[in-house]
Amino acid sequence: MKIYISADMEGISGIVDWEYTSSERYDYSRARKLMTGDVNAAIQGAVRAGADQIIVNDSHNSMNNILLEELLAPASLLSGAPKMNSMMEGIDSTCDGVALIGYHAMMNSTGVLNHTFSSLSVYSLKLNGRETGELGLSAYIAGYFNVPVVMVSGDDQLSEEAQAFVPGVKTAEVKEARGRFAAICRNLAEARGLIADRMYEAILSRNSIKPVKIEGPVTIEVALQNGAMADAAQIMPGAERVGSTTVQFTAPDILVAYRAFRTITSLASHA
Ligand SMILES: [Zn+2]
Repeated sequence: MKIYISADMEGISGIVDWEYTSSERYDYSRARKLMTGDVNAAIQGAVRAGADQIIVNDSHNSMNNILLEELLAPASLLSGAPKMNSMMEGIDSTCDGVALIGYHAMMNSTGVLNHTFSSLSVYSLKLNGRETGELGLSAYIAGYFNVPVVMVSGDDQLSEEAQAFVPGVKTAEVKEARGRFAAICRNLAEARGLIADRMYEAILSRNSIKPVKIEGPVTIEVALQNGAMADAAQIMPGAERVGSTTVQFTAPDILVAYRAFRTITSLASHA
């Protein structure tokens, strides 16, 4: 059985602000260890449930955060960036289930460190009219390959978002949001025990969780943080300016929509 893990950093146990998540800040070395610890807990749960192949895709920022020297077998690590499918690079139809570890709630929610790809440039993202965050994007990419997201870990706000996107998904709430930069964090032993247990349960019940699909064409509407960012983003071929700060693009499928969104975000961030 092959399990795919996409691991972000903002929803990892104990992480509450940008001091942890940026490689230039003082808590970053702690954050790498915390992230590797949560991922290892998921690996342990997956192995207990019978997984013999596990691929871990490092999905945060420069995507080289997880410490390979501490990563448990039998997981292999997809490290580094850029990657064509970014937070979901390496997923394909041979995977039996997906876990999203250390994920966070979408921009404009009340979750810890809430944002959608870029807190500096993206104000909101809609896919065919539905407000979508990173969790939704990753779930749709998995769905394209007919693989269900069976388990997510992060804060309580992410859990709510996950249930709305993926009915029946198992959730490990490792912290309770008390603001964008504050949370009540479970102690690490408890948090990691919870991740392992939820992962185990999720894999055993994976056949009852459906892949989340969005049929093409997929229209993305990206509201940026200011007009200059929209000026830059509308340069992308096929993009249409639909508001003072909003750019729209219609893609044939979710994979192209995902690439278009990341291109828009990248152009905007250089404005
Ligand atoms: Zn991240």
